[in-house]
Amino acid sequence: MLNDPRTLFPKVDPPKQSQPEPGLDIKLSPQADIGLSSYQGSGRLKGRKALITGGDSGIGAAVAIAYAREGADVAIAYLPEEQADADRVLQAIEETGQKAFSFPGDLRDPEYCRSLVQETVNALGGLDILVNNASRQVWAPGLTEITDENFDQTLQVNLYGSFRVTKAAIPHLKPGSSIIFTSSIQAYQPSETLLDYAMTKAALNNLSKGLASSLIGDGIRVNSVAPGPFWTPLQPSHGQPQEKIEGFGQHAPIGRAGHPVELAGAYVFLASDEASYVVGETLGVTGGTPTP
Ligand code: NAD
Ligand code: MG
Repeated sequence: MLNDPRTLFPKVDPPKQSQPEPGLDIKLSPQADIGLSSYQGSGRLKGRKALITGGDSGIGAAVAIAYAREGADVAIAYLPEEQADADRVLQAIEETGQKAFSFPGDLRDPEYCRSLVQETVNALGGLDILVNNASRQVWAPGLTEITDENFDQTLQVNLYGSFRVTKAAIPHLKPGSSIIFTSSIQAYQPSETLLDYAMTKAALNNLSKGLASSLIGDGIRVNSVAPGPFWTPLQPSHGQPQEKIEGFGQHAPIGRAGHPVELAGAYVFLASDEASYVVGETLGVTGGTPTP
């Protein structure tokens, strides 16, 4: 059976809407598809142990649900105020019969980054997939409107958080393990309104390539995913100006925004043995916007 990718998932045509940071999936209008009733697993990650930051909502939630349906035990990290979103994901993981753990906290806190990894290892009995997915995205009209405080906060979450969690995780990773970063089309085509965020996505893309060659000698693969526009709570929680919420993602050649579940396969592939020779790659999932 053939499915037309333009219409396989509903076109997102959101009205203007705003939520306080970090935003909740359950309050998005329309609702995004995180795979609850659409993702089907086939045992591709059987017995693996995964930690996903920002696993409560959006892309991270879709990855968490997919990993569990592929046979992995999963721990998710998120901010305490996102518990309602996290509960939905934890329930979906438990329904697969896999183990689900949650460790809420703030990635701006260095001690949390370290304890998150240690508690995950204790709970899962090890760690072999790390998905660095949490990020902060707050728009500003231009560089002069980015306050020093906002600049600092974005770098703390996106860069320092990923660095510290990865640093704490590496000693636990055995050959066959996988680290995946969430970069962005913004790494290549920065929006004028997202200068600070976009530079962190370019940095993570670069880090994943350097780290990939550094760790493959230990049998650990590192890769990135670079999504185009996906409908998630990041966008209406000060992630975009209101005029970009209306019609969000419709500029992509495919003509619509992506649903988070449409990224799940990329993260499953990169974590699985099917990607054994895929090292230091950035997998663009952009609905047709070219990436280098
Ligand atoms: P999302 O809001 O659902 O996920 C981001 C998560 O980051 C939040 O759920 C939150 O748990 C976490 N986070 C933010 N600040 C934090 C902090 N201080 N401490 C701990 N956790 C914190 O949105 P999403 O779009 O699914 O984002 C997931 C990833 O995808 C991000 O890295 C984002 O940059 C990337 N991305 C998204 C898009 C898109 O169009 N949605 C495009 C390209 C890349
Ligand atoms: Mg969230």
